[in-house]
Amino acid sequence: MVESSTVIGHQVALDRLSVAISKGQNSHAYLITGPESVGKNSVARYLASALNCENLSETPCGQCAQCNRISRRVHADCETISVDLDGYLHGDGNKRTVITIEQIRRIIRECYLKPYEGKYRVYIIQQCDRMSEEASNALLKTLEEPPEQVVLILLSSVPEKILPTLVSRAQVISLKKVNWLELEKGLIQKFNLDKKIAEELSKTCDGKPGIAVKMLEDEKYRKWRSDALDEAEALADSGPYQRFLYGGNFSKRYTKDREDSIAVLTLWQEWWRDVLISSYGINDSIINQSRIDKISYYANQYGSTNSAKNVRILTQAIAKLQKNFNPSLTIEQLMLGMPILAKK
Ligand SMILES: [Zn+2]
Repeated sequence: MVESSTVIGHQVALDRLSVAISKGQNSHAYLITGPESVGKNSVARYLASALNCENLSETPCGQCAQCNRISRRVHADCETISVDLDGYLHGDGNKRTVITIEQIRRIIRECYLKPYEGKYRVYIIQQCDRMSEEASNALLKTLEEPPEQVVLILLSSVPEKILPTLVSRAQVISLKKVNWLELEKGLIQKFNLDKKIAEELSKTCDGKPGIAVKMLEDEKYRKWRSDALDEAEALADSGPYQRFLYGGNFSKRYTKDREDSIAVLTLWQEWWRDVLISSYGINDSIINQSRIDKISYYANQYGSTNSAKNVRILTQAIAKLQKNFNPSLTIEQLMLGMPILAKK
C-alpha cells in the first residue's frame, strides 16, 4: 500500500521539524505556505505524525499505530478543515466560499478536551486565507492562549491574505517547488516507478509533486498525452501531402475543442524541443524520456536547424491561435511551414 504520509521532496523542512519535535520544541501553530500542489497537505500530515508518533528515536517512524492511523486519515485527533463547498458540513446544502465561524467555533470547543488516542489534537486548516473575518478573529483569540495539547496547522498558497496577527502567532514553513531530481527520486520511492517514467513525470509537473501524482492516477490524461505524442512522431515522418490532409482534419478538431487543440500543439512544441536538445547530444534534459529512442532518431534526421525551426513555427502558431487569428489559415501555414525530411 502507498504510504500517503510520505512526502515527496522538502527534505530540509522535514528534517528541521523532526529534530525540533523530538526535542519537544514544537509550536502551537504552524503556517505552511507554497504554490498549489507543492505538498502542503503532505507536510502537514507528516507534522501531525511526528507530533503523535510512538517511536522516540525516529520521528515520525511511519510504522507505529499513530503514524499509520494518521496516514490512513482515520486518527480521531487529527482533523482537516476546509471550505464547505456543498453545504454538507453545515447540514443545509448551501454552498460556502469561506471557512465559517461555526466551523472554527467547533474546533475551539473541542480543543479544550483531552486527545482521544494520541499526544496532540491536530487541526489542519486548508486554504486558511479563506477564513471569514469573524472566524480568523476567533481563532486568533485561541492562539493567544493555546491549550497545551493542541496544534493548529494552517495551509495557504496566498499567505498575504491572512490576518497578519494570525501569521505572527505561527511558525512559518514556506515550501518551494521541488527540483526534478528530488521529485524523480520521491516518485520512484513512493510508487515504485520505472526510472524513465518517473523522470518524464517529474520534468512535466513544474516542481509540484501533487500534479505528478494526479497525472499518474489519471489514466485518461496519460492516454491523451500518449496519443498526442504518437501524432507528433507520425507528423515528423510524413510528407507534404499527408500534412496537408492532416491540417484539414486538425482544423475541424480545433472548431470542436479549441483548448484541447492548443494543448496538443503545446505538447508537440515540447516534443520538438526535446528533438532539438537531443540534436545537441544533451539527452538528460529531455522531458519525454520514455520516447528517447525516436527522439534521437529524429534529432539525427532533422538536425538542430530544422528542429529549432519546428519549435519556432509551433510557438508562433500557438500564439496566433491564442490571439484568435483565423484557425484554418494558421494551421495550414503551420503544416506547410514545418520542414520535411528530404526522402519524403
Ligand atoms: Zn510512528
